[in-house]
Amino acid sequence: MSQRRRVGPQFSPAGLACRNCGCRHWLVVYTRPGPMGSIRRRRQCRHCGLRVTTIEREAEDGNAEA
Ligand SMILES: [Zn+2]
Repeated sequence: MSQRRRVGPQFSPAGLACRNCGCRHWLVVYTRPGPMGSIRRRRQCRHCGLRVTTIEREAEDGNAEA
């Protein structure tokens, strides 16, 4: 039972606010590896339940623009 996971920072990416209610509190529903070493996270707004998928880089480059 060896789990080899590379888990990024648990905080939400800067500027990620719910477009429905504007809050910034997200539950992470699941995390999956994405294309080219990125990480896909399915998030659900704690306030209104809106679901979004974010794609995050494993290494922060300092520039969050896609
Ligand atoms: Zn919301």
